Amino acid sequence: MTALLGPAEIRGLAAELDVRPTKKLGQNFVHDPNTVRRIVELSKVTPDDHVLEIGPGLGSLTLGLLASGARVTAVEIDPVLAGRLPATVEERAPEARGRCTVLTLDALKLRGADLADEPTHLVANLPYNVAVPVVLHLLAELPSLAHGLVMVQTEVADRMAAGPGSRTYGVPSVKIAWYGRARKVAPVPRAVFWPVPNVDSALVGFERSAEPVSDADRDEVFAVVDAAFAQRRKTLRAALSSWAGSGERAEAILRAAGIDPRTRGEQLGVADFAKIAQGKALPPL
Ligand code: SAM
Repeated sequence: MTALLGPAEIRGLAAELDVRPTKKLGQNFVHDPNTVRRIVELSKVTPDDHVLEIGPGLGSLTLGLLASGARVTAVEIDPVLAGRLPATVEERAPEARGRCTVLTLDALKLRGADLADEPTHLVANLPYNVAVPVVLHLLAELPSLAHGLVMVQTEVADRMAAGPGSRTYGVPSVKIAWYGRARKVAPVPRAVFWPVPNVDSALVGFERSAEPVSDADRDEVFAVVDAAFAQRRKTLRAALSSWAGSGERAEAILRAAGIDPRTRGEQLGVADFAKIAQGKALPPL
């Protein structure tokens, strides 16, 4: 039986390692076993799954994931935390021996070749300040990641899951939609963390689409998205003029894509951005 980590165990481990949690690395550790059980349940991982966990920290979520019977690869940037994790697993989940691999790495530099085999699920309580870049990097780098459940700051959860026309719709929403569908699953109160963060959190679920949105070049689509939202209040004609080479050329590309040049980026879906990106290959004016 896996013994999850409660407040006393988290404090005990932190004292043993002389851990002073840093904001820079988003080090807020979950010290509530009920929250861990809930995340694992919502993630729907099974013993057949290989879970990638980013930022295992002291191991709260890692132990919960191992209790589900899944295999876990945990990627932690902090060598002190990563160094202690195998012993924590051995002490508290001896039945999971051989199912947990710990890598001391920056998740933003993780490559498929670093992993023994392909993970199916991303389940993580992500460091706040790099949550979106980490998710986008992993979706691009690991095509096998079909499902995700990540805990992020509430505002980031809103941005990740927003659709066109919504106030929170922006670059993260469109780029994530390129890969699949994100939705906000549940709020998480700040009291479940030690130290208590000064923001609220929420869980975001993700399902990768079976079919790509478009055969447009992803980097070109993302360049259009970045340009469209860099000047959010401008019309697309104006916002895309330097990407296209001129305002006239931006207008021609937008018209060819069937999009009114006076539209703003916040009104378009990811498939529209893909159509615009493909227009760059149109013959010059
Ligand atoms: N999963 C643990 C929990 O739920 O208690 C800890 C979560 S804490 C919010 C985020 C963790 O991510 C910390 O352990 C931190 O050291 C780690 N981290 C921060 N930046 C990282 C990065 N770029 N790559 C991998 N881990 C990172």
